[in-house]
Amino acid sequence: MSDGGPDGLIEVGDHLAVVLEATPLVEAATMPLSAARGRTLREAVTAAVDLPVFDNSAMDGFAVRFADVASASTASPATLRVVADLPAGTALDPALAPGEAARIMTGAPLPSDADTIVPFEDTAGGLADSLTSVVVLRAPAGSGAHVRRRGDDAAAGDPLLDPGVVLGPLQLAAVAAAGVADVAVSRKPRVVVVSTGSELVAPGGSLTRGQIPESNGELLAGLSAEAGAEVVLRLAVSDDGDGPREAVVAAETLGADAVVFSGGVSAGAFEVVKATLGDTMRFSRVRMQPGKPQGFGTTPSGVLLFGLPGNPVSAAVSFEVFVRPALLRMQGRRDLHRPVLRLPAATAWRTPPGRAQYLPVTIDRGDARSWRAVPVSRGASHLAGSLGRAEAYAVVPAEIDAVAAGDLVDVMLIS
Ligand code: AMP
Ligand code: MG
Repeated sequence: MSDGGPDGLIEVGDHLAVVLEATPLVEAATMPLSAARGRTLREAVTAAVDLPVFDNSAMDGFAVRFADVASASTASPATLRVVADLPAGTALDPALAPGEAARIMTGAPLPSDADTIVPFEDTAGGLADSLTSVVVLRAPAGSGAHVRRRGDDAAAGDPLLDPGVVLGPLQLAAVAAAGVADVAVSRKPRVVVVSTGSELVAPGGSLTRGQIPESNGELLAGLSAEAGAEVVLRLAVSDDGDGPREAVVAAETLGADAVVFSGGVSAGAFEVVKATLGDTMRFSRVRMQPGKPQGFGTTPSGVLLFGLPGNPVSAAVSFEVFVRPALLRMQGRRDLHRPVLRLPAATAWRTPPGRAQYLPVTIDRGDARSWRAVPVSRGASHLAGSLGRAEAYAVVPAEIDAVAAGDLVDVMLIS
């Protein structure tokens, strides 16, 4: 990693590249669908059965031969004898002679002798008087009307999902529908979260002068979990002593993949991460605001060490920009980045000269034709309370000096 321009700052993309370059892939394991939610698929899924599995009815109504009802109308209805009743799940395949029909419910297999469904709505009696005969008042649009065809959606053997997709409820339902019970997915990366700072007190604890509630632990553990990781240990360590180094030893014992430190990486007098892990981590200044001081390294056994700045907004932004992509890469995720919308700014705001800005915003959806990005605060990196209102970050490139109301900005969605 060579430090960048004349100001010594390295580009955001270059720092991310260093991180991703050092990021290995975790192992895959095969598990039942019920255990795989939120995990990343590692082997393609192909359909085990045709989807739909067999020709079946799309409506509650009658299975008919199209020729029998092709010219039915209110003026000249077609009357058919009803010879069978077919609920979903039935194995029956009743023979239908010309002039005969079967009552059929949605999802029941289409009798081999039928080719068309007439919904109840197109009959005189509907459900009420339909078990002896049916009077069809409207001709179906054509042969095959309201029939769902076997294999219409996917045929057995067709590819359904590619490696690298995250298995959410929709994906898992598609896999289940295709008759597949187990999937190969990444194990969860194991993460240790370490807050540093002698001023920190557990939230709700009584505060003496100089002390503040610890909040980055909750932030970084939550963001890690949302990125698919398992948080195996959370620690808070003081600014003196060897806390960070001991945390790394504990992480190695637990088989962790990454340690995420917050605080103690900038240019002050008591930077405990810098002081204790200077041999394993590299400390850089990145062309971004917030998030300029960043530490990163890998232990000899391959544990990634992230040293994020301690201000809560800085820690949150740094996680988004560097840690989350690495955790996703570990899991083999195809898309490492958040979705970005391009929206007009609701107000003017200042941007830091020569640094990419990540400004917490909400999205004003009042005008459905023009959503707008609204800053949650003036943008200072210590405003942990306002961060609770953010649903996105406006990302303004380093070369843009000012944002005026109405300017289009990139808005990175984080929820
Ligand atoms: P540092 O990066 O250690 O210089 O911390 C920068 C600022 O963030 C200081 O005001 C710290 O008190 C604050 N800070 C650091 N770590 C945390 C934390 N875990 N929770 C809340 N605030 C923190
Ligand atoms: Mg500190």
